Amino acid sequence: MATAQVRVHRAVIGEDSAAKYAGPLFVVGAFRSGTSFFFSLLNKHSDVALLYEADLGCFYPEWFARRLKSDWFERIEFWNGCMGRHGVSRPADLSRNPTSEDAALWLYKHYAARKEARIFGEKSPSYADCLEELAKKFPGARFIVLWRDPLSVCESVCRAGETSRFFRKSGMVSRVLAHLEKAGAVVAVKVQAPNAPGGRFTKDKFQIDLEKDTVTCPAGRLVQIRRREDGSGAAMFGIACRSCPMASSCTGAKDGRRVHVHVQERLLLEARMRQRSPEWRANYKATRPKVERKLAHLMRRRHGGRRSRVRGTTRIGQDFMMLCAAANLHRLAQFELRSAAASAAAAS
Ligand code: SF4
Repeated sequence: MATAQVRVHRAVIGEDSAAKYAGPLFVVGAFRSGTSFFFSLLNKHSDVALLYEADLGCFYPEWFARRLKSDWFERIEFWNGCMGRHGVSRPADLSRNPTSEDAALWLYKHYAARKEARIFGEKSPSYADCLEELAKKFPGARFIVLWRDPLSVCESVCRAGETSRFFRKSGMVSRVLAHLEKAGAVVAVKVQAPNAPGGRFTKDKFQIDLEKDTVTCPAGRLVQIRRREDGSGAAMFGIACRSCPMASSCTGAKDGRRVHVHVQERLLLEARMRQRSPEWRANYKATRPKVERKLAHLMRRRHGGRRSRVRGTTRIGQDFMMLCAAANLHRLAQFELRSAAASAAAAS
C-alpha cells in the first residue's frame, strides 16, 4: 500500500515565538501526494488559514499586472478564480501593480484575518519544483513537504486520469516526473528516441542550447527559440532551408524545418543522455516489470496496438486478439530460432 511521508522542517503549531508568524507556510508535494488531505486537516486548526492552490507565489501572471495595473485583482480572479473560491472580495483601497510577493502576501493575510488565524499561507502541488524560488521570495517562509513513493504517485496520476480531465491532460506525467526529479528522485522511465517522417534528420541531430535558448541545425544554422506562454517553444529555420543542400534529408515543409522544444526539454535531454549509459540500461532491464516489455512489443508495429483500425468494441477486441496472437507467434519463432542455433552449435 502506498504511503506518504511528511517532513516538517520546523515546528509550526505550538511553538511560542513571534518570529514563526512572520512568513507564510507552504504545504507542498508532487501531485497525488496527499497535500489536499493534509491541508484539510491543518485548516481545521483555529490558528491556521491556508489557501487552496492560489498559485500566486510562483505563477503570478505579471503580464496581467503590467497591462492592467489597477485591474490585477479581477485579472487574477479570471485567471484561476482564487478570489471567488476563497470568498475574498475586492477592497476599496486595493494597491496598484503589486509584485507577486505583495499580491500573494496580501491575499494570504487577508484570508487569515477573516478567520483570525495567525498562520497564513497556501497549499499547492505546483510549488513542488520551485521551493528555492519561493524561499527567496518569502524569506520568512516555512515549508511542509509531503513525500510519496514516486511509483505510487505515477500510478495514482494514471488512475485519476480515468475520471479527471486535469490528470488526463497531455504532459501531466512528465510534469509529475519533473517534480519528482527536482525533489531528488531518480526516475527510471525510458524516454522515447525522437523520430522524424521519411527517415529525415531527427531532433537529436540538432544542438539545443537551453542556456542561450538557441538551436543549431546539422548545416550549422543557428536560430533563436521562440517561447510560448506555457514555456514550450519552437525554432523555425524558415527561408534558410530553401538554399540548404541538406534540405532533402531534413524537411519537406515549404516554410522550412521547425524544431519543437518541450516545456520539459532539459529533462528529456538529460534522460536521453543518461539512458545511453550501460549502467542505466542494465538497471532498466533488471528492474522493469516484464509486462511493460510485452506492452511495448504490442505497440511497436502499426497494427492496432496504439490506435484501433476498426470501429466497435467487438471488432476492436478481435483485432487486438489477432495482434496478441501475432506477437506470440513472433516470440515462439524466436525461441525456435534460438534452440535451432543452440542445437547446431552443440552438434558442431
Ligand atoms: S534544411 Fe534547414 S534546418 Fe535542415 S539542415 Fe538545412 S538549413 Fe538546417
